[in-house]
Amino acid sequence: MTMLSIAECPDCGNARPLFDQCPHCGSQETPILSSDTAEINIKQGSPLVEDALEQLTEHLRKSIDLGIKAIVLIHGYGSSGEGGRIKWAIQEALENNRYADRVEEYFFGEQVAFGSDSYRALLKRRPGLKSYLQRFKEGNAGMTVLLLGTSHRNA
Ligand SMILES: [Zn+2]
Repeated sequence: MTMLSIAECPDCGNARPLFDQCPHCGSQETPILSSDTAEINIKQGSPLVEDALEQLTEHLRKSIDLGIKAIVLIHGYGSSGEGGRIKWAIQEALENNRYADRVEEYFFGEQVAFGSDSYRALLKRRPGLKSYLQRFKEGNAGMTVLLLGTSHRNA
């Protein structure tokens, strides 16, 4: 799983990954975000499904700590293969509220096709998603959009 979004190192000013230390200067300071939207590729490295779900829990926690409001989760699709299995496992986990303490709402890629009513409603709330979604006129079955909560409900 990789975090594709890039942030800026507060110590040396170079671009660096969100969750790892700076590859340029080794800084572990909180990076400076250029957006409140981040992209996670959960299928990278072909993880086992349960490992992928566990890693997602950790990435969601870190994302909320960093102030990220929306995640574009890339899980791939297909009726066979690891991408398809991860997609269905994630959708089932979301529907069973596995991530309900961190994810306020979610939209499967098919539901937010470019130009649709649901796309427009979503962009009003999270304009940062536009650059991720505007390419997909038919929607993108290989991604799911997660809107993150900032506090634990029912706490
Ligand atoms: Zn640095």
